[in-house]
Amino acid sequence: MGPGPVNADPRVLRALSTPLVGQYDPWMTATMTETMGLYRQVFATENEWTMLVDGTSRAGIEAALVSLLEPGDDVVVPVFGRFGHLLSEIAERCGARVHQVEAPWGQAVPASAVREAVARVRPAVLAVVHGDTSTTIAQPLEELGAIAHEHGALLYVDATASLGGNPFETDAWELDVVTAGLQKCLAGPPGSAPITISPRATEVIDARRSVEAGIREPGEETSSRRIASNYLDLAQIIDYWGPRRLNHHTEATSMLYAARECARVILQEGRDAVIARHRAAGDAMAAGLAALGLALYGDQAHRMANVVAVEIPAGVPADGVRTALLADFGIEIGTSFGPLHGKVWRIGTMGVNARKDAVLTTLAALEQVLRRAGHTAPSGAGVDAALAVYAERPAEVATVGGHA
Ligand SMILES: *Cc1c(COP(=O)(O)O)cnc(C)c1O
Repeated sequence: MGPGPVNADPRVLRALSTPLVGQYDPWMTATMTETMGLYRQVFATENEWTMLVDGTSRAGIEAALVSLLEPGDDVVVPVFGRFGHLLSEIAERCGARVHQVEAPWGQAVPASAVREAVARVRPAVLAVVHGDTSTTIAQPLEELGAIAHEHGALLYVDATASLGGNPFETDAWELDVVTAGLQKCLAGPPGSAPITISPRATEVIDARRSVEAGIREPGEETSSRRIASNYLDLAQIIDYWGPRRLNHHTEATSMLYAARECARVILQEGRDAVIARHRAAGDAMAAGLAALGLALYGDQAHRMANVVAVEIPAGVPADGVRTALLADFGIEIGTSFGPLHGKVWRIGTMGVNARKDAVLTTLAALEQVLRRAGHTAPSGAGVDAALAVYAERPAEVATVGGHA
């Protein structure tokens, strides 16, 4: 029950043990194409170039930024937690000039502040995190696409922690490149980064295409502005997933199987149903924690559906509580980074853990551990408050796929 990675869906674990086939086996290429179609639905997009980058979520972030940014480009990065700093650092390594727009931790960045910075800087890229698990805040994205495009910028979004568990609309929100990972709401293992690329961003990437000498055809040029990474070169990754099937890396076969199964599991339950299940679990957890007398951290109106942060009560040993939860109850909750270290715990309800029994068991165990640590609350108050939230929701949101 931490902020991710979380338990994988058993179906995904089984998919990982599917026999391997060669990289140009017809079943392999058909599975790649099928997976592109599945992730178009998960991202809510018609983007042709919707595929996987091999590596953890960070590989997706780097692929996006290194493929869009050239040395000397300007990039605007709204920062409201740790991952905004990560985007800034990666953009800097690409040689870009980074302009941060900061919000205090625990709040989202106002769209007006982003608009002002984009109008002033006129960046090549506006790069933003959707859900920043370090603060549990979800940045509203609805207006950012229009802001970027009005000023000739592309909009990149890191949706690693939010995709699947929170409302997300790639096309309707005019997002140009979005990357994710499997180990949060998608209920898979870390190691594959789904990505989607708009036609507008594809144009920028296409202009930087390079084909490796050993497989280049006569007359094929390599752009003088070629992308600085070979492995994370989205132009080459597009050529590998697309009809040319130009050899690049060897697609990580087992992770392809896992990513495909993650998408199938979500789409079978229904994208909206999965989001509603995450919302119910997050709300029930938040209500339960508040009823245990814990202060919720951050602007609750902008809290991600799938992770809640609570302030650690004075006098309670932060790490001792986490250790006891794990050792005595087999439940893991999260610590925090940077300015929040030692101040808040982060409790996730994502993927297969976004279900009623997991929420109730965690609250019951936490009440017990807190009592032994000297923090008392009315007996059973956390579980009662969570049950009250579930009582107001449709029965299907209590369990994964609506199954008993
Ligand atoms: C968890 C998380 C990541 C993780 O990146 P990995 O390379 O998979 O460890 C990236 N971005 C955000 C916003 C996250 O919450």
